[in-house]
Amino acid sequence: MKQRKVPLRKCVACQEMKPKRSLIRIVRSPDGEVSIDLTGKKSGRGAYLCGQSSCFKLAKKSKAFDRALAVAVDPEIYDRLEQDFIRVEDEFRAAGAREDDA
Ligand SMILES: [Zn+2]
Repeated sequence: MKQRKVPLRKCVACQEMKPKRSLIRIVRSPDGEVSIDLTGKKSGRGAYLCGQSSCFKLAKKSKAFDRALAVAVDPEIYDRLEQDFIRVEDEFRAAGAREDDA
C-alpha cells in the first residue's frame, strides 16, 4: 500500500496535531468576519479545531481564536460560532466517517 502524506494541523484548543480533514476550520475573512469554513476553501486567516464541541468550549474559555486569528473576537461571536459549530458537528462527523476508508 502506498503511503500518502497526510497534512497535519494543530487544534488551537487542545494543541494536538491532527489530520487536516478531522479538524474544522474557522476563518477570519479579509473584512474581519469570523465564521466556520466546512469547505476549507474560504480565503482569510484560518484556525483549526477538532470536530468536537469539547474543543470548541475549550477554545472559547481560553479565547484561542483571538490568538490564532490575531483579532479580538467578541464573546457574542464565540456564542454564535458555538451554535454553528454544534449544527455542523453531526454533518462533519458523517462526512468524516465516509472518508475513513479512503
Ligand atoms: Zn482539539
